[in-house]
Amino acid sequence: MSAQLLEGKAIAAKIKEGLKKEIESLKQKPKLVSIQVGENSASEVYIKAQKKNAENLGIIYELKTLELGVMQDILIEKIKSLNRDKGISGIIVQLPLPKGIDHRVVMSAISPEKDAEGVHPENLGHVLLGDPKLAPCTARAAMELIESTGTEFYGKEAVIVGHSEIVGKPLSLLLLNKFVTTTVCHIATGERGVLPEHIKRAEILVVAVGKAEIVKGEWIKEGAIVIDVGINRAGDKLVGDVEFEKAKERAAFITPVPGGVGPLTVTMLMRNVVNAFKMQHRS
Ligand code: NAD
Repeated sequence: MSAQLLEGKAIAAKIKEGLKKEIESLKQKPKLVSIQVGENSASEVYIKAQKKNAENLGIIYELKTLELGVMQDILIEKIKSLNRDKGISGIIVQLPLPKGIDHRVVMSAISPEKDAEGVHPENLGHVLLGDPKLAPCTARAAMELIESTGTEFYGKEAVIVGHSEIVGKPLSLLLLNKFVTTTVCHIATGERGVLPEHIKRAEILVVAVGKAEIVKGEWIKEGAIVIDVGINRAGDKLVGDVEFEKAKERAAFITPVPGGVGPLTVTMLMRNVVNAFKMQHRS
């Protein structure tokens, strides 16, 4: 059996069609401001994708670049002035931030209503309480991909590899809210040598580690849904965290890398901006 590919682009296109119509019906265009501190080739790629997606949908996108040596206080002041600006619907701070700037303090300075990436503690709290408002984009993207398979969530066995604040942890809560039995693995699971044991049980497997093909094809449960969040450079191509060629012979559904989670993550960002706009203009 060869798995069905979960093409993020196709699912993203449908969601974007709906978003575009929704934006056209708004009295005012939503605006997303992106803050970058210094130059960083990794974030350049994301900024380009964000700008293109925003503009195609009718969202105004503005990039504000601060010089590398900027102090945390100045960055926070900048965020606070954007919080006060009624013309701005969403704020995103590009990571990584330079040494000496605490990203947690910075993310917490963004108004929860303008938190386009869904990383403010208040928004993470809503995810925990089972009432997500602006949820972390990559975790939401993984959920959209799983939902697109039409699977029944209730009582399923899911394994997430990776426990970051933007993917693994919030995704575990989104799955728990749907009564999925959820195991979260991380570095200590790997070091203990028990990753295969956990993964072999997974009817839904999500891997977000950032190590090329760390999950072997032979560990995949027959008929599993496999969401590969990882993006790793291998020579001149990109590969995921899952050994794709072997895994696709066992899985029922699998995301390609690139073209799986990535296109949906940026779409979820756009959806958050539209939802943020609507929350701010509720009356
Ligand atoms: P992170 O570095 O914050 O976390 C990595 C996680 O992997 C941690 O939980 C760590 O404990 C775990 N880990 C490390 N080594 C392990 C091992 N040997 N066995 C088991 N677990 C191990 O990562 P992140 O920010 O969540 O990103 C993970 C990957 O996802 C990266 O490749 C990143 O580029 C990618 N990513 C993709 C998107 C997208 O839209 N496609 C978005 C965000 C992140």
